[in-house]
Amino acid sequence: MTQEDERDLKTPVSTGHSWPRVRALLGVVLGLLLLLGGVGSAMAQTSDSGVEGKTFVIGTDTTFAPFEFRQDGELTGIDMDLIRAIAESEGFKVEIRSLGFNAALQALTSNQVDGVIAGMSITDERKQVYDFSEPYFESGIQMAVARNNDDIKGYEDLKGKTVVAKTGSEGETYAKSIAGKYGFTVKSLDQSATMVESVKSGSAAAVFDDYPVLAYGIAQNSGLKAVTDKVPGGSYGFAVNKGKNTALLGAFNDGLAKMKANGEYQKILDKYLADPTAAAPSTFWDLLVKSFPALMSGLKNTLLVTIISFAVAMALGLLAGFMKISRNILLRGIATTFVNVFRGTPLLLWAFMFYFGIPQLIGQPINIWVAGVLTLSLNSGAYVAEIVRGGIQSVDPGQLEASRSLGLGYGKSMQKVVVPQAFKMMTPSLINQLIIMLKDSSLLLAIGFAELLYQGQQIYAANFRVTETLLIVGAIYFIAIMALTKLANFADRRFNK
Ligand code: GLN
Repeated sequence: MTQEDERDLKTPVSTGHSWPRVRALLGVVLGLLLLLGGVGSAMAQTSDSGVEGKTFVIGTDTTFAPFEFRQDGELTGIDMDLIRAIAESEGFKVEIRSLGFNAALQALTSNQVDGVIAGMSITDERKQVYDFSEPYFESGIQMAVARNNDDIKGYEDLKGKTVVAKTGSEGETYAKSIAGKYGFTVKSLDQSATMVESVKSGSAAAVFDDYPVLAYGIAQNSGLKAVTDKVPGGSYGFAVNKGKNTALLGAFNDGLAKMKANGEYQKILDKYLADPTAAAPSTFWDLLVKSFPALMSGLKNTLLVTIISFAVAMALGLLAGFMKISRNILLRGIATTFVNVFRGTPLLLWAFMFYFGIPQLIGQPINIWVAGVLTLSLNSGAYVAEIVRGGIQSVDPGQLEASRSLGLGYGKSMQKVVVPQAFKMMTPSLINQLIIMLKDSSLLLAIGFAELLYQGQQIYAANFRVTETLLIVGAIYFIAIMALTKLANFADRRFNK
């Protein structure tokens, strides 16, 4: 007979007592869950029956001029005007997230956004996973090279060369489909701006992109020229996740039909296509001044997400650090697993996991701040745990012995003697950790978190001045980190001496 059984026999009254209680509790929990589920699906149903007064989150590309791009910090372009006009005519609101093309599609799959408008081609493959609106623009692929490049006149001249295309785009699919035949390599990049830069700087021989976009860039002096015939196909459509947001899709189609009929649609096209040079960026300083507010809001988000995440990481790290030196094998095991998992996997992987992966799993979107803080604090918490453990273990064991022989208990000795000394030793490493975290927070741009580098990217995506913009962003990071270091060192001197 096991100990468990024995206990059951000896205490029939108490088990007989607690089981119904546990069952009742389970019943209540289950009931609540069902209720929540019911309310949830009822809400989902009402949101399917109409769009009026609702706000929908719409994902888009960072820059895909003339369809979406920033002008004086504001998102504009054919897609933006179109979705806003349709929202107005159909009585709903939109919140636009400028995520980048591939990230927008991932966000749609994970229900992080309700719809995507991003010069997105309607293809049979995509129709398996998304539902598309009626087509609203005819497009297709073209190849462009640097303006001063006279060696590449067609696909035949690409042998042994590298070309660029946008991750997850039709341009990429097309380039890959003919890469073998012509003997070139395709490198995928996330942004139109970096693709153009690669071609201009010579690191790629050519770019494959949609021809209306290449033509618009060329008219704006992007420094490229188109060399091949257009490959037709791929009309643009507005997309929602398959079977989801049917009302939104219906409203888009209704609005589009009205705008085509009353000439509004043509007006939007003319605004951008009739004279593409009109939107050409002004001087660099002009742009800098105009984008300064965006950079400062990026800096604010960078600092905020770092501070919140660092506080969480400290709490997690202290807990795990003490658990690691505990005499309880289970606590030690949990802490060691935590440290190993988060130290042994890349930060970016967790950003994708929390923002795209887990929402898909649970069928619930996760707020970008929550995803960002979880990513940074769990990663950093693992390192803080090691700093805490190392700090405590580095205090001479004689200190603990001496304190205990003076009559203080274990807990009191730790609290009064060991931990204060350990903390002093930990401080420089913790400051380091804080600085690393501030820099690492830039990785969150991959999920569209509007931090400093993300804002920089948005700016150079619109003005094509990658180097200058990056220098400015770098300078802001540097100043922020210097200031933070000074502050932390001051606090260290203040409290630790
Ligand atoms: N039309 C292309 C596609 O859907 C590219 C879209 C984009 O880069 N924004 O794949």
